[in-house]
Order: sequence, then C-alpha cells, then structure tokens
Amino acid sequence: MRAAQLTAWRQPLALTTLPDPTPGKGEVVLRVLACGVCRSDWHAWTGSDPDVVLPMVPGHEFCGEVVATGTDVTRWRLGDRVIAPFILACGRCGDCAAGHQTICANQQVPGFTRDGAFAEFIAVPFADTNLTALPDSLLPHVAAGLGCRVTTAWQALVGRAELRPGEWLAVFGAGGVGISALLLGRALGARVAMVDVVPEKLAYASALGADAVINASDVDAAQAVRDLTGGGAHVAIEALGIAATMTGAMRALRKLGRLVMIGMPAGEHTAMTLPMDVLYSGQLTLQGTRGMPAWRYPSLLSLIEGGHLDLSPLVTRTITLSQASDELAAFDRPAPPGVAVITDFQT
Ligand SMILES: [Zn+2]
Ligand SMILES: [Zn+2]
Repeated sequence: MRAAQLTAWRQPLALTTLPDPTPGKGEVVLRVLACGVCRSDWHAWTGSDPDVVLPMVPGHEFCGEVVATGTDVTRWRLGDRVIAPFILACGRCGDCAAGHQTICANQQVPGFTRDGAFAEFIAVPFADTNLTALPDSLLPHVAAGLGCRVTTAWQALVGRAELRPGEWLAVFGAGGVGISALLLGRALGARVAMVDVVPEKLAYASALGADAVINASDVDAAQAVRDLTGGGAHVAIEALGIAATMTGAMRALRKLGRLVMIGMPAGEHTAMTLPMDVLYSGQLTLQGTRGMPAWRYPSLLSLIEGGHLDLSPLVTRTITLSQASDELAAFDRPAPPGVAVITDFQT
C-alpha cells in the first residue's frame, strides 16, 4: 500500500510502499477514505511526543471502509463505513467498564503507538469496542474530523465542562479544535467568544457564527471577554497548550467558571506559571481532557443528522498524501484557517 512515513523528526514524510496490513484478533482493516492533518500529528513530527518511535505512519483522524475482519470481530462486515476515536480503548479493563475509555491503560493510538492512517489501509484494534457506523449523509472528508478535533471538543464541552444553553463560552485558540468548539457550543445554545492572534482565523470564526471575536495581540483578551459577558465567561476552552492562552482563559472566567484544557502542553510548555490567585479567588474549576469515549458518538452524530450542526466549513483544504508534509510544517507558523484532510492516497 501507499503510505507516508515519518522517518526523521521535522523532515518531509517518506512516500513509500508498505505491506498491506492484515487483521489480528479483534481487529479490522479499513480502506482509508479520508484522514485529517492535526496539530497532534505536528507534535509527533517534531519529536516532542515520547510515545512515537520511528519509523511511524502518522494519522489518527480517519474514517474508512471495512475491507477485512479478524477473528472475534462480531459487529462489523465488509463494506461498512466507520469512524473511530483516536484513543482506541481495550473495552475490557475497569476504566473502560466505568465508561472512562479515554484513560484506558491498554489504549492504542494510531500514528503514535502504532501505524496510523496516512496510508491506503489501516488496521484498527479493539474494533467492536471503538468503531461506530457513519451515517450515509456524512461525507468522508467531513467525517474524518470526528476522529479527533470535533470529538475532543464535544467531550470537553459535554463530558467535562457540562456547558449549558445560554452560557458564555470563551475559546482561546481558533484552530481546528477551537473552531469545532465554536460550532458545537453554538449548537448547544451557548454564546461563543473566539480569541486568537491571527486576523484571518478570527474572520473565519466570525463567518461561522461566533458571537464575538477578539484579537489578543490588540487588546487584553481576558478583560475584553469579561466586559463582553458581564463579568466573565461561564466556560473557557484552552486550545493551544501554552501559558499565554491558559492565563488568558483563567482570567476570562467569571467566578465558579470552568476551564477545560484541550491544548497539549509539550516541550518547553510542559511546566508553566499560572495565576493561581485567580483560581483561588474565583473558585474556578480547571480540567484537562484528551479524546472522547466512543459511546459519545451517537449524541454527536444525532446532532449532525438532525441538521443542528454542519461541520463542512471546518474543512478548508482536501489534499493528497504527498501534500501532508507541507501541512505538518505549516503548524510551525500560524496555520491558515480551517483544517486539511487527505482524500487522495495515490499521489
Ligand atoms: Zn480499557
Ligand atoms: Zn488530533
């Protein structure tokens, strides 16, 4: 099969031919229909993710069609179109039994702990536990975002912050996951303020229905959010993983506000100085989040199928496998608005 392989940190992916995967016990093999290029792929590409051992085929945000099933797979048949969360949980441990698949100690992550979907085919473990059927109405390049960014935002808003209609949501970082939080927050009936430093991204957020956009390089964004919301946002999403956005998000909250950190702190950002007096005096809640358990797919897909959520504006670029390297490198600078999705795995 054609695949793009990470063979050296920060170098263009090697376009290569690898053996077609065969399904092990409990696994299915998918023909990849689409795979997003995500900021966490960039973390892997730079070498800052300790899980990644070279060589590695990146790609954790995919949808595909079942072309082979291993022994013990009971839920899936050839030809099924499916989606999976990037955290592939075992389905058998105590945490999985309690519904907490994102902390499963036996989890596998395509593109990080095993080969991902920057390839024509991918083998997906624990298939019965993790795969979910895609509605026919959802196009593959749109569905690909459901593997990581959209689902991560859904879990953050619904599973962690418990965002309620009429609340103010402030999103710090208008990249793929931030824009997902905007669309989902609006669908849930919240009012959404988007904060970034790139005018093009803010214009994009505005066009997608943001109630307010704030450029943090022009004004004190936290103060602007507090002014706008009459005392601060009820919920803040931090979508970059750095101190500046964490600090801004904390200061933007009203008392008893809830902050969910989605951005992955890596490298020099793994330790950061934060205004803990604001946490104390505001009696804030700070939560981390990573991924989404597969059992939350039905609620998200229902919202989409019901016409309450259109994810298609999220994807601004469909690309070929050979263009993935440029998209990874683009995360080094302020990336263009929207997300890129690989849909052509031959060139
Ligand atoms: Zn488990
Ligand atoms: Zn991702």
